[in-house]
Amino acid sequence: MGSDTKKAHNEHTMASRQPQAAAEPAGSATGSAPVEASGGVDPRVARIYQRLVETYGEPRWEPDGDALGGLIATVLSQHTSDVNSARAYATLIERFPTWEAVRDAPTNEIADAIRVGGLAQIKAERIQRILRELTERLRAEQAARGVQDKADEADEADEACEPRLTLDVLRGLPLAQAQEYLLGFSGVGPKTAACVLLFSLGKPAFPVDTHVWRVTKRLGLIGQRVSADAAHTILLGLIPPEWRHTMHVDLIQHGRRICHAQRPVCQRCPLRADCQYYWTTLAQASR
Ligand code: SF4
Repeated sequence: MGSDTKKAHNEHTMASRQPQAAAEPAGSATGSAPVEASGGVDPRVARIYQRLVETYGEPRWEPDGDALGGLIATVLSQHTSDVNSARAYATLIERFPTWEAVRDAPTNEIADAIRVGGLAQIKAERIQRILRELTERLRAEQAARGVQDKADEADEADEACEPRLTLDVLRGLPLAQAQEYLLGFSGVGPKTAACVLLFSLGKPAFPVDTHVWRVTKRLGLIGQRVSADAAHTILLGLIPPEWRHTMHVDLIQHGRRICHAQRPVCQRCPLRADCQYYWTTLAQASR
């Protein structure tokens, strides 16, 4: 999720239905690059980070704490533009006042609401599946706490026992556990989980999208055969928590503006001194 998507994502979550306490970013949201805090970091990673900040700056990091809204927004952002996914999200929350209403509506009505974002039927099914799975988890957690039994004894209506749909539990979990919790939902992979944790909750996850994957591969930070999913774990080990938000957003900017998939503009690239692809290509050309 790049800066544009982040902006769209913030627009989504500003419109979330439940006021939430803002999450705390793990690093500074603005200000100078904390390169000094990089004890033990690979010097090459530190130089790349520094150059990215000098070139693209430090983007604002304003997580709003709405992880469930962030998860639905991230599902809607798949395979479409930021603008269209933001529109799809806005229409969805306008037509359905709660996530429970989204879960229980006929799937074709959800698909109608999000049609502008593309792949409407698939995304509608995916969203409802996630919400149903979340319902089951929350019911199980509630039952484990004994709330269900108490409610039964009190002879309360079943509806009153239903847990509210929320992912608030993630706020108190360490990064790895929060990631694991999200990966347990159908259709949620490492990138989606990392986007939710980074952008909604301010946890130092590191989403690897197509730009981040391509650029880090060319730089030689990950191997040429490493999958995007596997790259998440490797890059988490290389990039300090307080740099991850900036580095994610700036690498996407770099991939869009200079390190294109076809014909990267290496002569204008501020990272070329540390780029494996550049030096390999140069060496081959001079033979
Ligand atoms: S030197 Fe070329 S390949 Fe390497 S990061 Fe820069 S644009 Fe991409």
